Amino acid sequence: MKTIDFINFSGKRALIRVDFNVPLDDKFHITDDNRMQGAVSTIEKILKDGGSVILMSHLGRPKDGPTDKYSLKHLVKHLSFLLNLQVQFADDCVSGEALRKSKELKPGEVLLLENLRFYKEEEKGDRDFAHKLSLMGDVYVNDAFGTAHREHASTAVIAQFFPDAKYFGYLMASELRNAEKVLNDAEKPFTAIMGGAKVSDKILLIERLLDKVDNLIVGGGMAYTFAKAQGGKIGKSLVEEDKLDLALELIEKAKKKKVNLLLPVDSVIADAFAPDANTDTAENTNIKDGWMGLDIGPESVKTFKEVVLKSKTLLWNGPMGVFEMEKFEQGTKAIAEAVVEATKGGAFSLIGGGDSAAAVSKFGFNDDVSYVSTGGGALLEYMEGKELPGVKAIND
Ligand code: AMP
Repeated sequence: MKTIDFINFSGKRALIRVDFNVPLDDKFHITDDNRMQGAVSTIEKILKDGGSVILMSHLGRPKDGPTDKYSLKHLVKHLSFLLNLQVQFADDCVSGEALRKSKELKPGEVLLLENLRFYKEEEKGDRDFAHKLSLMGDVYVNDAFGTAHREHASTAVIAQFFPDAKYFGYLMASELRNAEKVLNDAEKPFTAIMGGAKVSDKILLIERLLDKVDNLIVGGGMAYTFAKAQGGKIGKSLVEEDKLDLALELIEKAKKKKVNLLLPVDSVIADAFAPDANTDTAENTNIKDGWMGLDIGPESVKTFKEVVLKSKTLLWNGPMGVFEMEKFEQGTKAIAEAVVEATKGGAFSLIGGGDSAAAVSKFGFNDDVSYVSTGGGALLEYMEGKELPGVKAIND
């Protein structure tokens, strides 16, 4: 893998695509800086070599050009703290002023460019825009795993302007290494825990995993599609009516491949999708009319935990319930605790990004699992076996 270890950055300006798409609260405080922390080792290696660093990223989904809410200036203070130096800021990513600032950088200095998505050209993968961005650096480094599945100007198209000077950052490299380890070098028993809202988002991954895992645990909203497909009464729970046949097919495939497929037997149910809803527990296939399952129930927790604790490799993607609401966080928390315990006992645990990473972070377990991916969609696509444009652009 062509990582930044292949080059000495002395006297060079490194243009790094990072993924600083971090959650911010109303006062612009960063509520989870995992992605920023993830980029620090790459930046530090380049500075240590005697290079300078120009960082580019997107933040949120700005619709109409520059918007204060989505400005990367809100990240300068925290980034300066993480790097222990004063980070400079350019209030545009391709202006003459930004270019001047990038050219005037001295070794050891860091410049953060304004949000790439203030330009529509970024997501369109516009070649001219990519070319303008490329002028900011002598070397291109991609360390933005979270956006590696997008063929955008800064994540893929830009690489053509650095045919002999493009590299993977350390975060990208460790994301790929950890995903590979789980996919191709998993110690058995290997258990995948799938959750989240929809089965449709994860079909391809589930199908691929059926060839690899010993146990497949399914929880979260997607479990009710399986329950209904098996003839259960699921009340108002989340369901994908057009995926009922598929759910039955997956159950059959698991049987054929001798994968132990575990579906929840019970649920915490609620009379409304609300933090103060009335709650009860019910069998997963016998949920009262008008009620909905918003978390896995205590019996399911017990069975799932037993399997997790016996596993040597764990891959977790998607929460077991609506963990954002306290009344429905127990299932996700219990599984997180079991994953932590298994990890302490020597298992390797990879937590898929997105909501599973948010859950692990909410419960304070970031440092107690083997690896928390910074990529949600990117990790899913990589694990499904797709070639990520951001990875291809460096490898080509
Ligand atoms: P995903 O992005 O597909 O991983 O889905 C994550 C979202 O699924 C989280 O916001 C959860 O609140 C939600 N979720 C998990 N379980 C349920 C459920 N039983 N009903 C509705 N939403 C759920």
